Amino acid sequence: MIHDILDVIKKFKPLNVKRLTFNRHDLLLELARIPGVYVPQFYETSYLEDGTVAHTLPTRSDVPKVITKRIVAKLPPPPTKFIVPNIEVVHNRASVEIMRGCTRGCRFCQAGMITRPVRERSVEEVVEAADAAIRSTGFEELALTSLSSSDYTHISELTEAISNRFEGRKLTVGLPSLRIESVSIDLMDRLRQQHSAGFTLAPEAASERMRRIINKFIPDEDIINTTRDIYQRGWTTIKLYFMIGHPSETLEDVQAIVDLSKRVIAEGRKAVGWKVKLNVGVSTFVPKPQTPFQWVSLDTKENILEKQAMLKRQLLKDKSIKVSWTKPEDTLLEAFLTRGDRRMAEVVYSAWKNGAKFDAWNEGKKDAAWLPAFAEHGLDPAFYTQRTRRADEVFPWEHITAAVRKNFLFEDFRQSLEGQIRVDCRTHCFACGILPTFKEMRREHPGDVWKCPEVKRKSALSEVEGAVASDEAIGGNFCEFNW
Ligand code: SF4
Repeated sequence: MIHDILDVIKKFKPLNVKRLTFNRHDLLLELARIPGVYVPQFYETSYLEDGTVAHTLPTRSDVPKVITKRIVAKLPPPPTKFIVPNIEVVHNRASVEIMRGCTRGCRFCQAGMITRPVRERSVEEVVEAADAAIRSTGFEELALTSLSSSDYTHISELTEAISNRFEGRKLTVGLPSLRIESVSIDLMDRLRQQHSAGFTLAPEAASERMRRIINKFIPDEDIINTTRDIYQRGWTTIKLYFMIGHPSETLEDVQAIVDLSKRVIAEGRKAVGWKVKLNVGVSTFVPKPQTPFQWVSLDTKENILEKQAMLKRQLLKDKSIKVSWTKPEDTLLEAFLTRGDRRMAEVVYSAWKNGAKFDAWNEGKKDAAWLPAFAEHGLDPAFYTQRTRRADEVFPWEHITAAVRKNFLFEDFRQSLEGQIRVDCRTHCFACGILPTFKEMRREHPGDVWKCPEVKRKSALSEVEGAVASDEAIGGNFCEFNW
């Protein structure tokens, strides 16, 4: 797609012609006709009396009604020549993406929903790219990135090959987003990682009930067994990541974070004594567009503060436990920007005029700039943050699709209300909408690189489309929901 965009831009602004005047409107119009390109000015949103979106429609007949994301059938070779910063920056390392997409279906995870389908790079390609990247940049740290590294089909072969290739060289290799199981420790062991760096696990919720709701089900005992194994193999620090504010969360679910953390640290003490450390990161869940939780409300500021106080009060008593959390003001800012509609553009502009700038950095943050900005435009932040959406509500982002159907998301949301989990869709396709949208592409690229089922015969596709139809029937019959 980038080539299509560049071709159009070149047509309007040839490289060797200086001071060329061109019509910006015509350029944008031509760009808007490229599949996957969204040019907001050719779309208009109207609102219902209650302030929710009635619809967003194109203002011209020659641009698409709905913009569908574009994907590559096969991942292109990974970049290996990065700009090397001469100051300390975050992510100060070479990265090679091993796969894109995720089939786990965690209901809070926007990346998992919008980057489908899963496509993997070969072991050989990853190793060669890693070598080239390290040689061309001089980095001493390498990250093999993906949304769920343990799910990469050839993860054992990959860690083996990386370990052999970089034998004797000073290189730290990171394998983020590992599942909570002993195999993950084997992988890190194989990469001969320094145990001082700590081992990170992300259960996201501490009670089994809540892990069912978010579709990241792992029994408590598996978490305890894995953490015990990590400490026994010589790591002294474990980092556990949780979120508070999940839909339907109670104080018992938050108490479970304390209880689980205490069990983990007790296991650590048995294995490594008083050297043991546990870092507990607790962020606040912000419902994201294009996910099964796009209908739910953000937790209230009062609840968030109460839950955080409860955690700090109990966990910080233990000197071996460190706790970090997100400030509620930052969460609110993220929440209204995340699910805002077009009117938020004016709010952002007014907030900037009021002094808001670099809000992601504490020193530049100016919370007081935002409320007057909302007031100036007759809007209320709570409309965007503290509101459960109607089941049939039209979302401000609905004219842009990641090819995962709204009915699929709603059905998944409904299942979460019943505490039902969905298994990894590599073993059972749930007809999320990816295959019908990209069926030609899938057919042209058979084999194992894509993790969705192959679409070979007409009957195979009908099976998927049949599932889509029945899913639509469920979704079409929207019901009201209660926690
Ligand atoms: S089409 Fe099926 S296998 Fe592919 S991402 Fe969707 S649910 Fe998963």
